[in-house]
Amino acid sequence: MALRDMFIALSENKVLNEAAKKYGLKMGAQHVVAGTTIEETIASIKALNKQGISCTVDNLGEFVFEKSEALAAKEQIINMIEAIHNSGVDAHISLKPSQLGLDIDKAFCLDNLMDIAEVAANYNNFINFDMENYARLHDSFELMETINAKYNNIGTVIQAYFLESIENIEKYKNLRLRIVKGAYKEPSTIAYQDKATIDANYISLIEYHLLNGSFTSIATHDHHVINHVKKFAETHAIDKDKFEFQMLYGFRTDMQQALAKEGYHFCVYVPFGSDWYGYFMRRLAERPQNMALITKQVFTK
Ligand code: FAD
Repeated sequence: MALRDMFIALSENKVLNEAAKKYGLKMGAQHVVAGTTIEETIASIKALNKQGISCTVDNLGEFVFEKSEALAAKEQIINMIEAIHNSGVDAHISLKPSQLGLDIDKAFCLDNLMDIAEVAANYNNFINFDMENYARLHDSFELMETINAKYNNIGTVIQAYFLESIENIEKYKNLRLRIVKGAYKEPSTIAYQDKATIDANYISLIEYHLLNGSFTSIATHDHHVINHVKKFAETHAIDKDKFEFQMLYGFRTDMQQALAKEGYHFCVYVPFGSDWYGYFMRRLAERPQNMALITKQVFTK
């Protein structure tokens, strides 16, 4: 079994996910997860804000098939929105519809999302709808549209590996969009498989959204893309206030700080919570070099 498949299989193992919740951040996960509690996470956000970096905060959670779990996730997200407001940090929320009940009942999920969006709107905060696998894509877009029609404080994600990504970006051209390459395993009937094709489509989607003038979050650790975007923005006189770079918490921190120092808006995706195991395994699957995070801790203990 390839290393990537092994880590994906580990990330999907419910028993291991449950077991890991009982312990604090282990195995090096503390390098890529900001904290298990809201207090720890706010402290991590403050440290990033001090470096001129804003944050988008994600309450980690996997395998939500019970309404009680979705309600608990909603409560935790609302508590985080309140903590962001009360502490005055520069941060907004990223969420996944599946954590709020999409796989249980779409109407129930919509109610939960509405409650969150209302609290965020009251505090003048923004919500990003992360996009998951293709099976959830259209339902997630539909929920996002319904909520945005009422609160107008929502943005979402376009995944460049999808064949339909160009239609989706045209459809949502007026929204604040995070553009990514795409993280899930999808078949060739719906998604490009070849890295060069995905990378080329990724660049053309970013250019499209930058040129049409809506706010663009370029979420990547790929320095080739980042350098291209810097040149493109300069050539086309695109104001630095119209876009930002995003990376995951704990990755390429030197580059995060350098870009912020150069005057680019930079936003770090900050995952938190006790349900860290699946997220951590997916980061290991994405890039085998991330194994260094584990090894380092084993050898320093
Ligand atoms: P890759 O294609 O993985 O890497 C390209 C090159 O960049 C590598 O060859 C290497 O040279 C360099 N590189 C990459 N990582 C490193 C590193 N750690 N250290 C040194 N060099 C490195 N996916 C979704 O499907 N839905 C989402 O909602 C979503 N949200 C995201 C939010 C953020 C903030 C980020 C950063 C990613 C998100 N993703 C999401 C994941 C995304 O789709 C990709 O799977 C992931 O970012 C890997 O692709 P990449 O563009 O970072 O670079």
